[in-house]
Amino acid sequence: MKTILVTGGSRGIGRATACLCGARGWSVAINYVGNQRAAEATAEAVRAAGGQAALVQGDVAVEADVIAMFDAAMEHFGPLDGVVINAGIVAPSLPLAEIDAARLQRMFAVNVFGAYLCARESARRLARDRGGRGGSVVLVSSVAARLGSPFEYVDYAGSKAAVDTLTIGLAKELAAQGVRVNAVRPGLIDTEIHASGGQPDRAHRLGGTTPMARPGRADEIAEAILWFLSDAASYATGAILDVAGGR
Ligand code: NAP
Repeated sequence: MKTILVTGGSRGIGRATACLCGARGWSVAINYVGNQRAAEATAEAVRAAGGQAALVQGDVAVEADVIAMFDAAMEHFGPLDGVVINAGIVAPSLPLAEIDAARLQRMFAVNVFGAYLCARESARRLARDRGGRGGSVVLVSSVAARLGSPFEYVDYAGSKAAVDTLTIGLAKELAAQGVRVNAVRPGLIDTEIHASGGQPDRAHRLGGTTPMARPGRADEIAEAILWFLSDAASYATGAILDVAGGR
């Protein structure tokens, strides 16, 4: 039995991860920012799969929200064993020359500042020298970090490169504290994130051009996240795993 906090757990990859945790009988704190109905549906799915679920609303880009979401998760279920730092955003496709500062600020606020805040709270709560019992932190990056996403969103790609570097550094900081830190880099996955960037068909349209000639499913990413969360990955830390159909 493990207790896991999943940021952005209401939809997409986070929802699939929460459901797989539920199928293992684990307790899952499901973070979301605005879509309460989706979060409630995910909580129901986690319970139906055999786990326990609680909702923890909060914007990962807001420090007070992040602290409150970790507090609430631990009030519900006790000490955490794992954190999946998954919440993230994209924006409409544009060359960098057309991207305004407000967009850059929000992109880095959610994807970088938010990931760092959640990683910091994970360190504070899981590290053995701070009273934690060790555990596993999994960050959700993107293959965009190595592709650069030209003419689409080089801002998003850079934000995910920061997530990769955070993974490498924090893994080294926390290895002696019983905390493993790893990242999964998905490729084109069929979720609602593409609609939020104005291209609902993006995963299917571009998925056909990848070596496996299809987009991935959220549950195919969740399986990799679950491996890093599980004791089967006991010697893996600082690893960055591409799950991208060969892209
Ligand atoms: P999604 O379907 O759009 O779901 C996004 C989730 O993040 C939702 O649960 C949303 O909550 C939450 N969220 C967004 N902003 C938030 C904030 N400021 N604070 C807290 N929660 C927030 O996205 P997805 O495709 O599952 O993506 C999940 C992660 O995978 C992201 O980090 C993304 O960059 C990464 N990724 C995705 C793909 C892909 O092709 N799908 C590829 C590579 C990497 P609400 O429901 O409340 O809005």
